Amino acid sequence: MSELEDISELARRRGFFFPSNQAYGGTAGFYTYGPEGAALKRNVEDVWRDIYVREEDHMEVSAPTIMPEAVFEASGHLEGFDDMIVECADCGAAHRADHLVEDATDIEDAESYGPEEIGELIATHGIDCPSCGASLAGDPVEEFNLMFGTNIGPGSSAPGYLRPETAQGIFVEFPRLKEYARNQLPFGVAQIGRAYRNEISPRRALVRVREFTQAELEHFIDPETDDPPIERVEDVELPLYSTTAQNGDGGVERHAVGDALDAGIIGSEWVAYYLARSMAFYERIGIDMDRFRYRQHLAGERAHYAADCWDAETELGGDWIEVTGFAYRSDYDLSKHGDYSGEDFTIFRQYDEPVTVERATVDPEMSYLGPEFGGAAADVADALERLAGRDRSAFDGDAVTVDVDGDEYTVPVERTGFEITEQTESGEHVTPHVVEPSFGVGRLVYSVLVHARREDTVDGEERTYLELPPTLAPTAVAVFPLMSRDGLDDRAEAIAEDLRRAGLEVSYDESGNIGRRYRRQDEVGTPYCVTVDYDTLEDETVTIRERDSTDQTRVAIEELPEAIRRLLAGETLADIE
Ligand code: AMP
Repeated sequence: MSELEDISELARRRGFFFPSNQAYGGTAGFYTYGPEGAALKRNVEDVWRDIYVREEDHMEVSAPTIMPEAVFEASGHLEGFDDMIVECADCGAAHRADHLVEDATDIEDAESYGPEEIGELIATHGIDCPSCGASLAGDPVEEFNLMFGTNIGPGSSAPGYLRPETAQGIFVEFPRLKEYARNQLPFGVAQIGRAYRNEISPRRALVRVREFTQAELEHFIDPETDDPPIERVEDVELPLYSTTAQNGDGGVERHAVGDALDAGIIGSEWVAYYLARSMAFYERIGIDMDRFRYRQHLAGERAHYAADCWDAETELGGDWIEVTGFAYRSDYDLSKHGDYSGEDFTIFRQYDEPVTVERATVDPEMSYLGPEFGGAAADVADALERLAGRDRSAFDGDAVTVDVDGDEYTVPVERTGFEITEQTESGEHVTPHVVEPSFGVGRLVYSVLVHARREDTVDGEERTYLELPPTLAPTAVAVFPLMSRDGLDDRAEAIAEDLRRAGLEVSYDESGNIGRRYRRQDEVGTPYCVTVDYDTLEDETVTIRERDSTDQTRVAIEELPEAIRRLLAGETLADIE
């Protein structure tokens, strides 16, 4: 079995994750986290929270997953959140057209090609339908919007969509969130929640699913005055796979953050800061850093508004998978929502000293515009006001001409009330820029499992274990009675209960021989097992056995909770002896 098949088999058998709705034949692209997986996922999320909310001192919110159509008109998702689809004329199976091209050619960024080009590539490379083998040449390649639509309330007058990313729930609430930040930039807003994408071809277990959890941070900054505390991370080494390396024959190069910025490899200090901070996150959740890299987006992959974009990628079964996107999104999102909603998506930037500025203003004579232009008079007045703000020289002559919906209106300047006045201003409104690290929690959980799986031989017997960081494991400690009789079981249950009361995740197991019970815990990554044996009844001690080394030591029962806590904090069995 390949390493991915091994993990899928383990995940199903031991309750990490499995395909959903199997009683009804299954639903492609949906997975349920079982008890072990739900605990592991929660622990990954807690580490994320610890770093991006607590340590970085950002706020966390929780927004609805269904949002009205207007939000996605503004964000651009309605218009452009598409993937390319080709449907087989023979069997009707739908495929992600750009992925078929990538699989069959050397092209790595087929997503940046247009549907027509992809159609031609399918024909010239003779690509066949992966489901039935018929040729796909000539089958139309079309854009397919990935959002799941619904109706809000009865009837169809209020269309809504399941959010395709958690970010929009933060952006649309900016006018209120800025109040909680006391109208001061910079501030960050984090959210962990579900996102939905009607993927054309879900694949590779948790890698490409139709419902998944994202952990996103939107850091709102003033581009002119706010810099990240880059000195704190200057020396952090990053494994960078730059566009230059991708376009040539280069590979991953390790650069300290400071050097990568000086050399212009990373274009934004803010992006560099989050790449560096995130190294600590990946290490803490147990990603194998030899199977990890930051890949810069190629020009064709990058959204037009994004200044610099990098993906964190993990290697799984020989393929590199994006687990996080890091983007400098400029003022794109907030400007769009400001324009579409008419609400204030800006922050007031106070000047150090008030400044006196000249302002061009108009005060058009409506008693003239009304009879002259009828119903268009108010629009002409607005257009005059905008023109004065934009180009005061337009009022230099005797008459000024404005355009309203394609029609020109000429007004004598003396009727516009045009004047230049001096005003004292204490600041100005600016639309914040956004730096966004966006993590896919499911892909991280999957990577952690694949990277943690080990096989070895203990006492002549093969075993499989998960070398998870101790605090990330679903169960911190398992308690076993050597035999389920002679009072050993009652004693072990009481010890398990004490450990639970001490705040630990504990599992109790008395079935099967002790070796089998160790293997069961090893398989799900439980870092410590405690065994209650006949000596316990004599001397009030138990053994603690460590998962990776299988070494054991004895400790007094009354010291057990503290001993486990010290082990979880990174001490060794030798330290607590
Ligand atoms: P994106 O907005 O496409 O950059 O996605 C942000 C993150 O969400 C990615 O880095 C992935 O980890 C995750 N993600 C995106 N699409 C999916 C999917 N279909 N299934 C699972 N995770 C996904």
